[in-house]
Amino acid sequence: MDNFTTSTGAGKTVIGTGVVSGVAYAEAVWIRPRPELPSSGQGVSPDQQVAEFERFQEAASNVSGRLETRAAGAEGNAAEVLNATAGMVKDRGWHKAVKKNINSGQNAEFAVVGATDKFVAMFEAAGGLMAERTTDLKDVRDRVIAELRGEPEPGLPNVKGEAVLFADDLAPADTATLDRTRIKALVTELGGPTSHTAIIARQLDIPCIVAAGSSLRDIESGTKVFVDGALGTVSTDIEETVAREKIEEYAMIAERIAQWRGPAQTKDGKKVQLLANVADGNAARIAADTEADGIGLYRTEMSFLSATEEPTIEEQAKIYGRVFSAFPSSKVVIRTLDAGSDKPISYANMEHEDNPALGVRGLRIARDNEALLTRQLDAIAQAAENREDDAPTWVMAPMVATTTEARWFANLCRERNLTAGAMIEVPAAALMADMIMPELDFVSIGTNDLTQYTMAADRLSSQLAYLTDPWQPAVLRLVKHTCEVGIRHNVPVGVCGEAAADPALAAVLVGLGVTSLSCASTAIAGVGSQLSLVTEEQCQQLAEIAVKSVGANAAREAVRDYLAQLDQ
Ligand code: PEP
Ligand code: MG
Repeated sequence: MDNFTTSTGAGKTVIGTGVVSGVAYAEAVWIRPRPELPSSGQGVSPDQQVAEFERFQEAASNVSGRLETRAAGAEGNAAEVLNATAGMVKDRGWHKAVKKNINSGQNAEFAVVGATDKFVAMFEAAGGLMAERTTDLKDVRDRVIAELRGEPEPGLPNVKGEAVLFADDLAPADTATLDRTRIKALVTELGGPTSHTAIIARQLDIPCIVAAGSSLRDIESGTKVFVDGALGTVSTDIEETVAREKIEEYAMIAERIAQWRGPAQTKDGKKVQLLANVADGNAARIAADTEADGIGLYRTEMSFLSATEEPTIEEQAKIYGRVFSAFPSSKVVIRTLDAGSDKPISYANMEHEDNPALGVRGLRIARDNEALLTRQLDAIAQAAENREDDAPTWVMAPMVATTTEARWFANLCRERNLTAGAMIEVPAAALMADMIMPELDFVSIGTNDLTQYTMAADRLSSQLAYLTDPWQPAVLRLVKHTCEVGIRHNVPVGVCGEAAADPALAAVLVGLGVTSLSCASTAIAGVGSQLSLVTEEQCQQLAEIAVKSVGANAAREAVRDYLAQLDQ
């Protein structure tokens, strides 16, 4: 069954979506509860209003001060997140809105709620990444309200021993300073594979399960739980000795992963290009420290999310050049702007669309604005001139749905001597692969969107995480078809969605005929190590098992069982 709770005797197992592999056995600790929000609070007379606003300012200043102190003791990304949250507490627009509410007679607590609601509504209307920041806004609201009431600050409790952290969803300020030596796993009721919790957990390499659903609430703080991040399970009925054995087993796997060295190949020597997904030069430098053979997906739009004007060709070339210089002679696959849907860019997208995931996103923007695309291609070509002579620079378009689009894009690339490809992430493109592929030099399957569109399930919805699972056999069948066409036309077929980051699924993808895999830097060694343990023929058997399974969990479990047998 997909994502349901199972009960055995006194114990129970809650199933969510595993986003970072690993196992842990420790007490569950629920994050300190958010304060009850006031639903009224009128009655502050005009002569008390100045003092009431000062009370708010003092509370806000205490909260931001504490966050800044924590930031000073943290490093890198953690410090940035804490400083950003402190900045939100000090935001002048928010303070102004609170003041206005207090001046209308509201007490500080109620004024904070109203002011925050106003900003949340604005962020939600903007959609995409802005909408995801509403968690941060509500976090700031809750901290200030707790401070106003003299209650303990909500969020991370002071954990004494080892713990598995439970939460509805985690705010950036909670995850930024997680004590890795104590917090052994994260489990959230909400969230999805691309939520903030998942991203931080991946960076910290903490086993993590999201979208576990409301039945997680039945497990109280203090209950010993066993978490399996690969299976997405949280169990309360496992015996301590069995749990310890599983942890030891996993430690051996982790050791094997740490020992693995590229280039990636199967046990019988079939080469598989293993590449990294990056969003900027910094991430590319991190990738260069791994065993990655190059970059398989550079998401260029991530550099422009907050830009209000299109950067010039020279400015763009400089930004792309930073990624190229991390891999001066290796393959870099750069994707043209995938603006829209959850990644709106103000200078590229329409102001409002009722259904942005099905709207004018990715390559579609260039239909009415070809110059936006050609300026980007010019910038890529300019940056590529500084690469070493034979360094492969491949360029692909997101959201290609038709043969005409593929031909049009490929011509624009070839006019600039760039190797042309397309993402296969719209089911139509997979089904038309035999027409589309002859137009191109390569394709790369975006399993995140391919899953979203095949299953008709929003990739950001936590309720639908059981559908937006790349193990869905329907998605794997489209991958299979694309690979078969790729082999016929001699066009390389890569995968650059999250599916490529799951070691067992990576073996399935190789069995389906994928020639390169691109994933987060943290996942490279796990995938490479898994491939080194299986032959090409075994990968093909795994692929057969997965595409013939009845559902995503059944596919995952059957493949796991097969791999476990090989280990014996
Ligand atoms: C995908 O859709 O699988 C993909 C790699 O692109 P993105 O996640 O950026 O949409
Ligand atoms: Mg995509």
